[in-house]
Amino acid sequence: MRKPDASFLPHIARMVGYAPGEQPRGRVIKLNTNENPYPPSPLVLERLRQACDDGLRRYPDAMAAGVRQRLSGLFDLPAEQIVIGNGSDEILNNIVRAYAGPGDAVAMAAPTYPYYRKLIELQDARIVEVPYPDSFELPPELADQEARVTFIADPNSPSGTVARADQVRAVVERAAGVVVVDEAYVDFSETGSIDLVRQHPHVIVTRTMSKSFSLAGMRLGFCFAHPDVIAGLWKVKEHYNVNTLSQVAAEAALDDVEVMRENARRVVATRQRLSSRLVGLGFEVWDSQANFVLTRIAAPPAAGLYEQLKERGILVRYFDNPRLADCLRISVGTDEEIDLLLEELTQLV
Ligand SMILES: *Cc1c(COP(=O)(O)O)cnc(C)c1O
Repeated sequence: MRKPDASFLPHIARMVGYAPGEQPRGRVIKLNTNENPYPPSPLVLERLRQACDDGLRRYPDAMAAGVRQRLSGLFDLPAEQIVIGNGSDEILNNIVRAYAGPGDAVAMAAPTYPYYRKLIELQDARIVEVPYPDSFELPPELADQEARVTFIADPNSPSGTVARADQVRAVVERAAGVVVVDEAYVDFSETGSIDLVRQHPHVIVTRTMSKSFSLAGMRLGFCFAHPDVIAGLWKVKEHYNVNTLSQVAAEAALDDVEVMRENARRVVATRQRLSSRLVGLGFEVWDSQANFVLTRIAAPPAAGLYEQLKERGILVRYFDNPRLADCLRISVGTDEEIDLLLEELTQLV
C-alpha cells in the first residue's frame, strides 16, 4: 500500500499559530482582550430566550436580512453595501482570500492587530509591514507598497491611537489595491471612514459588535463597501456564516443602540481617568480613542509587571514583540476594576 501523504501545504506547515489573549476560567479581573465590562441591552437576552424556544430547528437566514436592514437604517447605506460575518475576523479573512493570492503584497502599518498576519500567511501572500513611528501617526509610505490589500486599523490596536482623516484619505487616494479600514473600536472614538465608502469603490470599512455592543461571545461583524465589492465577498463567505442566535442578538442590540452609546460613554470616562492616573504613576500613555490604553513603563520591566499583576488576579496584555517590550495594553474595565488595578500598580512601582 502506498504511504498516504498527510503533509500540510508548505506555507501552512511554516505558520506559527496565532496566540489569542488568554480566556481564564476562574475569578480574575480581565483587562487583556478589550471586552466591554458592561452587559448588552436587556432586549438581547429577552429575544434570545424566544429564539431558543422556536428558532433553532432551521438554518439561519443566509442573507441576514434583519441585521442588514437595521444597519442600513442606522448608517444610511443601502443593504447591498453591507455584508455580515462571524465576527469581523471572518470578514477580514474573506477579504484577504478574495483579493490576495500567493506572493501578493498585503500592507499594514505595524505594530497593529496581529491577526492580519495569520490571514496573509494562510494565503501564502506577502506581509508588508511599514513601521509606525513612535507617535503612531499613519506612515504615508503605507500607500506606496503596491499592495493588493492595505489594512488600516483605526483606532489602531495596540496603541489606541487614531489616524488623521487627511492621512487616511491620502492612503486611499494613492493605494494600488483595496484599502480596509478596520473600525473595531470606532464607537469609543471620534473618528470614522464610512464617508470614504460612499466616494471610493476600493474602500472597505469593517466593524464589530464584539467591543462596543458587548457581544464578543456572539461573533458578529459587518462591513460596508461598494455593491460590487460586497457581491464578491458574498461569493467567498460560508453561506450560513452567522448563526440564528447571533443574528437575533445583533438585531436586538441594534434596536437599542442607546445602551451601547451609554456604555461607550462610561468606558471613555474611565479610560480618561485611567490614562491620567497612569501618567501620574510615571508611565507614558498613548492618546487612546479605544476601550484600552497602551502604556510604556520605564521601570520595572513590563514583562515582570504583567506577571506580578497576574499573580494578583489582574490580567493585562503583554506582547511578544520587541517594539512593545516595555509596554502593557490595559483594557478599560469598570471603575471598580480599574481602581483595583491602580492600587496594585501603585504598590508595584
Ligand atoms: C477585536 C478586533 C477585531 C475582531 O473583532 P471580532 O468581530 O470579534 O472578530 C478586529 N480588528 C481589531 C483591530 C480588533 O481589535
